[in-house]
Amino acid sequence: MHNRRSFMKLGAGMAAGAMMPMVASAKCGDEPTQWDSEHEVIIIGSGFAGLAAAVEAMRKGAKDVVVFEKMGVYGGNSTLNAGQACFAGTELQKKLGIKDSAELMVKDQLKSGRGIASETLLRHSAELGPYIYQMTKDCGCVYRDHIITTGGTSATRSHQVVERSGSGFIRPMLDTARKMGVKTHIRHKFEHLIRDAKGRVIGIKVRKGYHFGHEDSGEVISVKANRGVIIATGGFGYNINFRMAQDPTLTSEVGCTNAKGATGDGLIEMLAAGATPVHLAHIQSGPWASPDEGGFGYGAGFSLYNFPHSIAIDRNTGQRFMNEIADRKTRADLELQRRDQDGNPNPALLIAPKHEAKKDPSMHNVLKYNVAWEFDSVEAIAKHFNVPLAPLKQQIADWNGFVENGEDTQFGKRMDAGRGIKLTAPFIVQRLWPKVHYCQGGIQINTKAEVLAAKTGKPIPGLYAAGEVTGGIHGVSRLGGCSTPECMAFGVTAARSIMEA
Ligand SMILES: Cc1cc2nc3c(=O)[nH]c(=O)nc-3n(C[C@H](O)[C@H](O)[C@H](O)COP(=O)(O)OP(=O)(O)OC[C@H]3O[C@@H](n4cnc5c(N)ncnc54)[C@H](O)[C@@H]3O)c2cc1C
Repeated sequence: MHNRRSFMKLGAGMAAGAMMPMVASAKCGDEPTQWDSEHEVIIIGSGFAGLAAAVEAMRKGAKDVVVFEKMGVYGGNSTLNAGQACFAGTELQKKLGIKDSAELMVKDQLKSGRGIASETLLRHSAELGPYIYQMTKDCGCVYRDHIITTGGTSATRSHQVVERSGSGFIRPMLDTARKMGVKTHIRHKFEHLIRDAKGRVIGIKVRKGYHFGHEDSGEVISVKANRGVIIATGGFGYNINFRMAQDPTLTSEVGCTNAKGATGDGLIEMLAAGATPVHLAHIQSGPWASPDEGGFGYGAGFSLYNFPHSIAIDRNTGQRFMNEIADRKTRADLELQRRDQDGNPNPALLIAPKHEAKKDPSMHNVLKYNVAWEFDSVEAIAKHFNVPLAPLKQQIADWNGFVENGEDTQFGKRMDAGRGIKLTAPFIVQRLWPKVHYCQGGIQINTKAEVLAAKTGKPIPGLYAAGEVTGGIHGVSRLGGCSTPECMAFGVTAARSIMEA
């Protein structure tokens, strides 16, 4: 019997366990006798959620907004991001002849969420999409003219910044926030919420001069929040103890795409303050990852570009085993089932036609760093990877028939995404093996981005959250490109709520 543990030996291992000192949370009514500083709005975390909140708070008239970031650089997972954001109904989609709507986007996400996603929160986020698209452009983000087809979608909607990296959002948004007057500080680690006697969040304790990995570094100061606190500290993918408590198969041997700061600090402190946890065990693995490099790497960019017009092959059979653009969970689960006779991982092969692959810069990188390899013929692939030749040849011939007829009778893949691209030599081949990528779970919020208390189901006054630290929005499986807009949408929402309160 194969379990997920055995695959975890494969691929780039994560660094040793994430640092997470467990310290008692501030109780209601233990305000400091003296505050070290005060601000109108405090935002913790400088990723998409935090920066969108900062920009929006200024747009809504805030005069004194501060962003605290614990690491030595801004941006967290958002900077590592592939620069993709799903928006429905944009001018660019119209220009490219793509019919789409927020309603269709929600429908796709609900399907992938497998019955436990939040329709209300998804709709709220999708409807804010056009605002977020314009806001990022106003900040100076530049989108490519090409829109990407991501898995599980019924319309092509993943817009990408020209840098093909989340830094293409983070840099202009950080610059804009600062130009608007937002104060930003790195090496400031949020440690506690400070609450008044009635339970209202009125400030935080933050470790100023913090160095990641040195938990006692710096000094702890008390900072007052006159309007409220927005927690935007991201997910917990890099906190091995915490993620194993939710899913014991996700040991330190499992590869992970996240930034090292993704340790769930904000989530854990909000839980200590009585917030409601949602879906914490739903931790997503990325089906586009390569076992031949660490982290997100170059392979993800290559496979994301090539999945629509390429095939993924089981090395034992020489046959396809999935719809290469199904949702992430479907693909990751199927990829993990690729095993040799002894049950050891036998990663699938993504076979892409070079004539199309070369149109994206990712091909250069995967070849340069030995994450993918070029082959002149089907015979060469079969020999190198020990794949049965005849079924592989037949599979490629069948696939090219699907391309010609515009219908995949094997797995029902959307053939419009392949745009009539035939799979012919030379080929570029990458191995596929999933890595821990995204936390669907987190704390519960409502459509005002207010954090809901477990005891009462009501908002904890003065406390807001946005981004991957929140949970329950996407259900079992988030669709690709749908975190960027959602993090920003709830960052914007938190800022609006705090300014209206
Ligand atoms: C490699 C990679 C590629 C991805 N690509 C895409 C994509 O193309 N499209 C898409 O939609 N999604 C993508 N995702 C998912 C998406 O990028 C994340 O879900 C999103 O960036 C999370 O944003 P956030 O603002 O919630 O958190 P983050 O961007 O992680 O920001 C949180 C910040 O808070 C800081 N922080 C944490 N704890 C503390 C503390 N105690 N005190 C102070 N600061 C703290 C962290 O250091 C970090 O900088 C990708 C994720 C990864 C890892």
